This record gives sequence, C-alpha cells and structure tokens, in this order.
Amino acid sequence: MMNLKKFIKEKAIEVGLDIIGFCSSEPFHEMKEYLVLRKQKGYVTEFESIDIESRINPKKIMSSAKTIIAAGLSYNIDFNNNDKENILQGRLSKSSWGIDYHNVLYGKLESLVSHLKKIKDIEYKIFVDTGPLVDREIAKRAGIGWYGKNCLIINDEYGSFIFIGYIITNLEIEVDSESVSNCGNCRLCLDACPTKALEDDYILNPKKCISYLTQTKEKIPYELRDKMNTKIYGCDTCQLVCPKNKNARKGKTKEFIPKVTGGYLDIVEMFNLSNKEFKRKYGHMAGSWRGKNILKRNCIIALGNLRDKRAIELLSKALGDSSLMIREYSAWALMKIDRKLGKKMLLSHLEKEKSIEIKEEIHKLIDYFDRIVD
Ligand code: SF4
Repeated sequence: MMNLKKFIKEKAIEVGLDIIGFCSSEPFHEMKEYLVLRKQKGYVTEFESIDIESRINPKKIMSSAKTIIAAGLSYNIDFNNNDKENILQGRLSKSSWGIDYHNVLYGKLESLVSHLKKIKDIEYKIFVDTGPLVDREIAKRAGIGWYGKNCLIINDEYGSFIFIGYIITNLEIEVDSESVSNCGNCRLCLDACPTKALEDDYILNPKKCISYLTQTKEKIPYELRDKMNTKIYGCDTCQLVCPKNKNARKGKTKEFIPKVTGGYLDIVEMFNLSNKEFKRKYGHMAGSWRGKNILKRNCIIALGNLRDKRAIELLSKALGDSSLMIREYSAWALMKIDRKLGKKMLLSHLEKEKSIEIKEEIHKLIDYFDRIVD
C-alpha cells in the first residue's frame, strides 16, 4: 500500500514547497484564552475575524476535517538591493518583493492537491492568510517551526522569512510532532523593534507594529509615524536582527525576486501614477492589496522622516489633493521637514481649506510641533 505521507512530501518538493508538516484538526483550545485576552486588550486588528470559535476550530470550516497539511515557502531571497541614493525612495519589506505570495503559495498548494486527487478522493480547503484559523498555531502543531519571541514562526532550516499556507483535508495522515521554542536568552528583536511593539517575550501589540501601521486605514499617531522611517510596506527589523536568520537556507522561489521594484518604491512616481497605472505596474505585489492611496500615505510619512527639502514642493501640491488622508499627512510631513516654513505654508493653506476636519488637524499639528523639542 502506498505511504500517503511520503507521497505528499515528495510531491510537495516537486511543486516547489520548502517545508511541509502534518497535524490534526482537533480544536486549538489552548488558543482560546490568548485570543480572549487579545480582544480585551484591544489588540484585534481590522484584518482578523472576531469570532473566536471559528478561529480555533477547523471543523467549523470543514466538518469532515481530519488532517491539516501545513506548508512553508521561504521568501528569504538573495538579492542585491539596488539602492539608488539620489532619488526619494521608500523601502518594501521582503514579503512584498516579488509576486503576491497569496497567489504563488496558493498555486503550489493547488498543484499539490491535484497530485493527491489522482490517487485519492479528497475533500479539502486551501488557505493562505485568508481563513479565520491562526496559521502560526497550525505551523507550530505541524512542526513547521516554533514561536520566536518576535511572535513569528521560525523554522530550524529556513529561519523566519517563510510564508505559511495550509490545506484542511478529510484524509487520515500520520501527524508530526510540535515544534518547541528555542530563543534561549536572546532578546535582540525586542531591543531592535523601533516602536517597542514587542512588549515582552512572545507578546506583540499589533497596533504598534510597523508592519500593521503600513497597512491600516486608521489614523497613525504622530509618535509612531516618526518611527516608521522610510518603510512603505511592512517591516523586517525583528527578522533582520534575528540570529536564527543569519545562516538560514535561502529561498529559491523565483517569483519572489523583486524584478520591478528592487525592494524600493520611487516616492515621486507614487505621486504621479494614476490608479490604473499603479495597478498595471505594481498590482502584482502583496503590498498593493490596500490600494495606491495607503502606500502614497506611507510615502508621505517617509518624506517627513527623510526631511529632504526636495519634497516640499511635492507636499505643498498634495495639500490640494482630493483625498483628506493625503492632505492630512502632507501637512504633518511639511511640519516635520521644516517647522517654520511648514507652519507658514499651513497657515496660508487654511484660508482655502474647505474641510473642517483638516482645518482642525492643521491647528492640532501646529500646536503639537510648537510643543515638541527636536
Ligand atoms: Fe528569538 Fe532572538 Fe530571534 Fe527574537 S531575535 S526571535 S529572541 S532568536
């Protein structure tokens, strides 16, 4: 009789998956307390399901669920960043370097299923970041990796730059043993986090995490904008300092090579592209899922943090943008680059500004910058 687990493992390599593991679909009861606590602390982000039951019970998603096949795909791509020093540019995290991993990883999991279908009648559901279950818990249970103190899953061979996807199946397959955390006394990620979003070992306040901030539509507090530096999408800091990534095996998935961006976005270009042009050029990358305006907002924050006077003209024009968000952040960036000139420009802009909200924001900004000392 064919060994099903061996067959899946072989096919996983064939379709280009880096890591594969198996776990039961028993409810993740141990997660319940943690999720309730997170809710109480106000840590639930707009990207998560608030229904705790559906977050812990795979059978709520597929009643015939038996074994979950978990997969990891490394995006730790060797690529020499072509940092063009003379242009105003912002950084993209490695997770948004190439083609959207949702499509790439989903495609590989689909190919794996099509191999399985040839030998078995199977019921299944594939998820890459989309289901209500906590994919990191699945990865941990399936032995894909262990939780680092930065709350990311770390694989012994590939480190933490891995995307996780899984297939809930009705198949009976021998499961793997769970991974155990292995950070030891290291706390480098907690020390390096620019916003101190890692509040303690294994405790992340997502509302302070720069990766979340670059994606949220909520108003970003001024103090946190300062810490975003020139990050336009995502943040790699806690992974870049992690010793477990130092000698990790590199990813080989060609789709993750940043052929179009080189890992950077040209900020001036982001001011000039129409939505359609943006979609055509950057629609393939994971970081574009929130649309152009959120990235443009992050570009404006980057301009404020770069404090490069070349940006003043661009930002002054953006004060007349039709989007309230773009006007609001441009006002902040102008104050950040040159407080005296910024104040003069904002006071003059107040005479033509129609929105009460923006007028109030400008007064708040002037007050704020008058109070702080550089
Ligand atoms: Fe663990 Fe250190 Fe890596 Fe943080 S930097 S995840 S503490 S090994």
